[in-house]
Amino acid sequence: YSKNYNFLITGGAGFIGSHVVRLFVKKYPNYKIYNLDSLTYAGNLENLKDIENEGNYKFIKADINNAEVIINLFKKYHFQRVIHLAAESHVDRSITDPVAFVKTNILGTMNLLNAAKQIWNNEYDDKLFYHISTDEVYGSLGETGLFTEESPYDPNSPYSASKAGSDHFVRAYGETYDLPYVISNCSNNYGPNQFPEKLIPLFINNIINEKPLPVYGDGKYTRDWLYVKDHAAAIDLIFHQGKNMETYNIGGFNEWQNIDLIRLLCKVMDKKLNRSENESEKLISFVKDRPGHDKRYAIDASKINQELNWKPSVTFEEGLEKTVDWYLQNDEWLKNVVSGDYLEYYKKQYI
Ligand code: NAD
Repeated sequence: YSKNYNFLITGGAGFIGSHVVRLFVKKYPNYKIYNLDSLTYAGNLENLKDIENEGNYKFIKADINNAEVIINLFKKYHFQRVIHLAAESHVDRSITDPVAFVKTNILGTMNLLNAAKQIWNNEYDDKLFYHISTDEVYGSLGETGLFTEESPYDPNSPYSASKAGSDHFVRAYGETYDLPYVISNCSNNYGPNQFPEKLIPLFINNIINEKPLPVYGDGKYTRDWLYVKDHAAAIDLIFHQGKNMETYNIGGFNEWQNIDLIRLLCKVMDKKLNRSENESEKLISFVKDRPGHDKRYAIDASKINQELNWKPSVTFEEGLEKTVDWYLQNDEWLKNVVSGDYLEYYKKQYI
């Protein structure tokens, strides 16, 4: 990959985005990587401290909701490739403030598409808009079955509805304006740098501080989990080898009921913190279910597995241990992100 692309990655200061930015900056020195992020509560430049001085990396603080700013950035930096990850990403927040999700996830995506359409149509032959999405757009599964790339969209939360809307617009710009795109829909990610409102880092933080572990409903919700670096590797592969105008599902071949996952996490934490057996489990506290809660998500990742020869590099047990180690070694990071605004939000949610 010797091309010298000017490369826009949005949301690169967030959880998944920071892993994607690092991978591309290190692996492709020929690419000039521009990380555009508005630094919401979820964006944190600490996530990229180790690469911030690399010559092929530049951070741009900007909001994708500002159409004029976005188009000017396309003009100024001549982006030819986009990987779009910036989003409001937390389902619980989408239930209390759905409008923010429509703004960033739908209108923000539209602003990027419009800028790409306007600039690219006149200037470049070689261009690609890669949109990162979620398996939640497919809705909920029963006890059996898997989501494939052909599964109908059936989103149930304001978050998944907004992501579904953005997926549709990306596809529509491809069909209507010949904008070359690719979309991937991935299952739940976990790993270093995830904001501790999401299940695994929330529970790691609560176990460290011996606070209750709020489990929704009966804890029988089932999710497929993927280590974030494996998601970043899949994105790299799809970006370079995937077919344009297509969708790829990415999953961990790794389904867990919440309660089983939480018990496993409690065991790992007891061991790492030298606490007695079952000590963390005692913190489990069942709380009122989330409205519109999807029962089960599971991904059929055979297309990416067979066409692009991708599979996860770590087992769930390995990935979970790496994740716990990272949070225990980065207690300053954790302390900083759970102060201030986050505390206010957390109080409203669970207390
Ligand atoms: P995140 O919340 O950790 O990060 C989102 C980033 O986007 C933050 O850095 C934030 O500052 C930035 N951002 C938000 N609004 C913005 C705006 N208006 N303008 C510019 N930047 C803005 O999210 P994540 O978990 O890393 O998810 C990244 C992407 O992957 C999202 O599109 C999400 O839908 C998708 N996804 C996430 C998962 C998961 O399990 N976390 C799974 C599948 C797909």
